[in-house]
Amino acid sequence: MSDQKPLFRVGLGFDTHQFAEGRKLMLGGVLIPHDRGLLGHSDADVLLHAICDALLGAIGEGDIGQHFPNTDPRWKDCPSLKFVEESMKMVSAQGYAVSNLDCVILAEKPKIGPYVASMRASISAAIGVSEGAVGIKATTMETMGAIGREEGMVAQAVVLLERRDASR
Ligand code: MG
Repeated sequence: MSDQKPLFRVGLGFDTHQFAEGRKLMLGGVLIPHDRGLLGHSDADVLLHAICDALLGAIGEGDIGQHFPNTDPRWKDCPSLKFVEESMKMVSAQGYAVSNLDCVILAEKPKIGPYVASMRASISAAIGVSEGAVGIKATTMETMGAIGREEGMVAQAVVLLERRDASR
């Protein structure tokens, strides 16, 4: 066998943020009308944070907290698309491109369906794939637990990377 890097690498991401008054709700890089937003040092885009962790995990580069710590004033109120952009630079530098991405948003409210197309457009542009390679699903928690009580949201993401020199 060669000393080449693996053809494929898979990454998993998970994130949660609590709701707070007076914050904008950003999800997948899209502003979503809601009476509250998510609390965080950056724009608290829970979906993009899960996606960053999936990207970083796939290349063995730790997690979002290591690269973009919430103690760093550079990242205060930062659009999380910047984190995705920086994570993609690392993916690319290691010789990989995204093959596809799938994610799930767990939230009681607001309804996510009307914004899925915009989120797919935003995320596919950020990670360099077609919209067809970005899956976005949403579910409620059937009123159970903290998410069910509308205390916050959860997002999960899984990404498959393919070595860029792979023949297609
Ligand atoms: Mg986060």
